[in-house]
Amino acid sequence: MAERNWSENIEYRSSGLRSPSTVTELQEIVSSSAKVKALGTRHSFNRVADTEGIQVSTASLDLAASVDTATMTATVPGGWTYAEVSTALQSQGVALRNLGSLPHISLAGGTATGTHGSGNTNQVLAAEIAAVELVTADGSLATFDRSMSEFGAIAVGLGAFGIITRVTLDVVPTYLARQDLYKDTTWDVVLENLEDIMASAYSVNLHADFSATNVRTIWQKDRVETNPDGVPIVSHVPDVRWGATRLDAEELDAGRTTTLAPEGPWNLRLAHFTPESSPSVGGDELQSEYFVDRAHGANALDALRGMGDRIDPHLWGAEIRTVAADTLWLSPAAGRECLTIGFTWKKHPEEVKALLPDIEATLDPYAPTPHWGKLFAFERDYLVDVFPRLDDALDLAASMDPTGKWMNSYLAKLAV
Ligand SMILES: Cc1cc2nc3c(=O)[nH]c(=O)nc-3n(C[C@H](O)[C@H](O)[C@H](O)COP(=O)(O)OP(=O)(O)OC[C@H]3O[C@@H](n4cnc5c(N)ncnc54)[C@H](O)[C@@H]3O)c2cc1C
Repeated sequence: MAERNWSENIEYRSSGLRSPSTVTELQEIVSSSAKVKALGTRHSFNRVADTEGIQVSTASLDLAASVDTATMTATVPGGWTYAEVSTALQSQGVALRNLGSLPHISLAGGTATGTHGSGNTNQVLAAEIAAVELVTADGSLATFDRSMSEFGAIAVGLGAFGIITRVTLDVVPTYLARQDLYKDTTWDVVLENLEDIMASAYSVNLHADFSATNVRTIWQKDRVETNPDGVPIVSHVPDVRWGATRLDAEELDAGRTTTLAPEGPWNLRLAHFTPESSPSVGGDELQSEYFVDRAHGANALDALRGMGDRIDPHLWGAEIRTVAADTLWLSPAAGRECLTIGFTWKKHPEEVKALLPDIEATLDPYAPTPHWGKLFAFERDYLVDVFPRLDDALDLAASMDPTGKWMNSYLAKLAV
């Protein structure tokens, strides 16, 4: 039976899936195959991980994690999920600066599409990569680090440069975080205070739909300092902010979502969902997401509210976050501070397909960049404008892969 992605809206065209247990075996698969594609945990909603050749998972490679506290980096297997990576790092007293909403996705797959969490000072997760080791198209093993010119293309690489085996990540000393959820304030208040709200914690997420008068929740994740004995220094947390009321921990769907206050380790607070849970709406969904200039975030949201009656019948919910600028060539946040507007759609593929061009036209004044792992309608003509280094990245990929081993329908659409 054909392999599918997590939400089962894509049936892959591949001829099969291999799961090598050693890097040598992986190298042999790559050398002996005309077309190959790395497959992560299949959480993308489009054909970015598809191929007409064979798909290869690196989840079973016999690799381990190691932490270097002198350089404050950790080298971890790229096929590990963020849950596995963060558990390993936490056990050694170090941490990542941020996580996406779910820890189920793989490190290599997540970073390849520009996956991000939230926070005005937090960049896309790929910005934490210091170096990657990958199997290149000729089957050899190569390492690219931040000092190399190619690195800017490879870190958010869309699977176009090879199969990542190990990733070296920047780490920080472990820290505590807490979550607070505020419920029911109006869109008017949120739009008037958007900058303040998004700056009000280390990581802030808004959950909303567009035609309602109220925003559903303001979700704040804050780092908590400790005294020299490791005891959390808890500052006063208001019960009401911007007209919204703070939820008690018991009111949250415990077990499925990560814990609200009290303070706990970063890896059990920064993602929204616990590793054991079925995240989001369990796959009965499609997703799209656009990054806009943070300075125009309120205008962009207001514009979408103008088409809320058309969007909301197909929407489970929208998530609004912020992402700091970076310098990675294909990062949707390259060169600008962003507000991101994510849509978790009901599984209404035809209706969503029809809506996306209108949403993109509505956001056009704010030069939206799409999330590479989600659904979007933009064509190459637009993408080369908003990703000025897109052709540089594709040229580099072609030079490293002269026979088009990693090429697939998704990359081909970007190239012509
Ligand atoms: C419920 C849900 C919640 C989500 N939440 C967020 C969120 O909070 N923030 C966000 O930004 N995105 C989010 N996403 C999107 C998701 O993070 C991206 O689609 C991500 O790419 C998925 O990673 P994956 O491991 O499933 O990769 P896949 O979808 O399997 O593959 C994605 C790309 O990575 C490449 N790849 C995978 N493994 C390797 C490897 N070893 N070497 C080289 N290339 C590789 C593939 O070839 C492909 O090009 C969410 C998705 C879902 C389903």
